[in-house]
Amino acid sequence: MTQTSLFYIIIAILVIEFIIETTLDHLNSKRYNDPIPNDLQDVFDAEEYQKSQEYKKTNYKFGLLTSTFSLLLTLGFLSLGGFEWIDTWARSVSDNPIIIALVFFAIIMIGSDLITTPFGYYKTFVIEERFGFNKTSKTTFFTDKLKGYLMMAIIGGGLTALIIWFFEWAGTNFWVYAWAVVAIFTLFMNLFYSRLIVPLFNKQKSLEEGSLKTKIEGYAQKVGFEIRNIFVIDGSKRSTKANAYFSGFGKEKRVTLYDTLINDLDEDEIVAVLAHEVGHYKRHHIVFNLISSILLTGFTLFLLSLFINSPEVSMAIGVSQPSFHAALIGFGILYSPISEVTGLIMNYLSRKFEYQADDFAKNTFAAKPLITSLKKLSKNSLSNLTPHPAYVFMHFSHPPLIARVKNLKA
Ligand SMILES: [Zn+2]
Repeated sequence: MTQTSLFYIIIAILVIEFIIETTLDHLNSKRYNDPIPNDLQDVFDAEEYQKSQEYKKTNYKFGLLTSTFSLLLTLGFLSLGGFEWIDTWARSVSDNPIIIALVFFAIIMIGSDLITTPFGYYKTFVIEERFGFNKTSKTTFFTDKLKGYLMMAIIGGGLTALIIWFFEWAGTNFWVYAWAVVAIFTLFMNLFYSRLIVPLFNKQKSLEEGSLKTKIEGYAQKVGFEIRNIFVIDGSKRSTKANAYFSGFGKEKRVTLYDTLINDLDEDEIVAVLAHEVGHYKRHHIVFNLISSILLTGFTLFLLSLFINSPEVSMAIGVSQPSFHAALIGFGILYSPISEVTGLIMNYLSRKFEYQADDFAKNTFAAKPLITSLKKLSKNSLSNLTPHPAYVFMHFSHPPLIARVKNLKA
């Protein structure tokens, strides 16, 4: 296939994806004013529901603005030879393919981040602020960015350098070595993310002794779940939205509760949320997700190895000299329809897993506190109670609230 036809395929992929997303958002927005299902009448009072409607509409309009802007930016960049310009600049810095690639990606990432920062700033300090969610200070916002850059430079830069080095050394077989490194890295991050990365952004401490801890330990013992690490994280530093998650496995497994969750829910509700998380662990969802993400990475890297040596894939993004880094960008866009499909499958499985974890909590603890906790969490994040089924199918990793409540009541 020629580079020109590949160029048009890339443009078509970007435009078609934009049209699909925009149509889904539009369909979803048409459902905002649907009547609230009977089982969910008690989530909001009239005034709060009004507020949640405005929140959804504001986010919808803002999302449309940012996605349009980003499409136009990408199309403009592609057609005006932006990648060629950056590539030439990166080549003037060094002759080493690894350094050229690092400079190339650094410019693209920092450049696009600088362009999109005003949108992120507006979202946090205007939209989230107006609806009372935002607790982030401007200092936290910008230091988060700097820390993010630093992490990206060390981890992203390190992995990219290593992968290109494999390519220089092993040719198209690089994918096997790259896969091994990425798989080990994924495992390592799953085990030590909470220990190494979270402290860079948040304070976390062990859950203090008291009736909540006693209750949690009592439940854990009952279901035969050894839990030594329960942490509380200062999520309230950034937002009023609450959360809880599970990470690691074996001795490194730990439960992290947001301080906002502890403030918003009563003790039974917190244990119910925890029981749901334990359900994910007991039903092997954590291991399943880890293994499938590693297999998917292997599949992607293998496909990449088939295209990486075709100069057309590089040149389709407008550069004159083929290279690993340019081909990576071209491949990234050409691959996105496939990743849409794998994403769909993963979302579908994830929704199944949510029901299984809910059932586990229902059978080993109780349904009622889980229902009230889910309702409180939905209320506190002004969630959409009436999403469009097509939108749920494409985007939701969790079933909509009404489906979960119905399942828990069944
Ligand atoms: Zn879950």
